[in-house]
Amino acid sequence: MIILKSPAELQKIRAACHIIGELLNELADRIVPGISTWDLDAFAYDFITARGAKPAFKGYKVSGLPPFPGTLCTSPNSGIVHGIPSKQVILREGDIIGIDVGVIKDGYYGDAARTYQVGKISSAANRLLEVTSEALRRGIAAARPGNRVGDISHAVGSYVQEQGYFVADNLTGHGVGCALHEEPQIPNSGKPGRGPRLDSGMTLAIEPMVNIGTNRVSEKGWEFFTADGSLSAHFENSILVTDDQPEILTQAEGA
Ligand code: MG
Repeated sequence: MIILKSPAELQKIRAACHIIGELLNELADRIVPGISTWDLDAFAYDFITARGAKPAFKGYKVSGLPPFPGTLCTSPNSGIVHGIPSKQVILREGDIIGIDVGVIKDGYYGDAARTYQVGKISSAANRLLEVTSEALRRGIAAARPGNRVGDISHAVGSYVQEQGYFVADNLTGHGVGCALHEEPQIPNSGKPGRGPRLDSGMTLAIEPMVNIGTNRVSEKGWEFFTADGSLSAHFENSILVTDDQPEILTQAEGA
């Protein structure tokens, strides 16, 4: 079942999402050559808890793996998603790094991701970031009442394919708000006009994960990488479907 959120619930979801938007902005200044993903994670933990909220990924469980240890998922270069923050992972000039973060405040959830450049990056890396960010924008634009989930999937996937890139296999967006992951699943490719119908009051996390060289994914425990070692980017926002334009919940003022 896809939950339609009440105004009172939406207020709480907005509060959780607002923290994420601010945090993702703050991180931009801290993502510089020489910093470890561990340091970024520590900053994020303090930022979230200082605002009376909790990290939603820390302790997250799936069968067969230890609970996720980080506040952030930190996925550099060929990392697609779910990278574990580490003192051993030091960012270098020219890297790209996907940062994904979930927050719980007063029992309600938000979820978003950005891929950042570390210093100056190659034109190939830059183009990947631009295409992935534009894929997210197009996916969000398709999240209108009366459309279906497949319209979001198609908007994302067809654009990525036209640009000569690949969406990562079997990794999807999702409903969000009362839990970190709710129905519906939102694949990053698919046919328009298929799947559950969208309606005002749905809160969705739309999240294209785009690879330069292949759709195939290589899993190492929690961490997902491109199977060919090519670069991968990830942009995600939590949004509210409304009768008008979708409301982007995890974007800070001025961003
Ligand atoms: Mg998500």
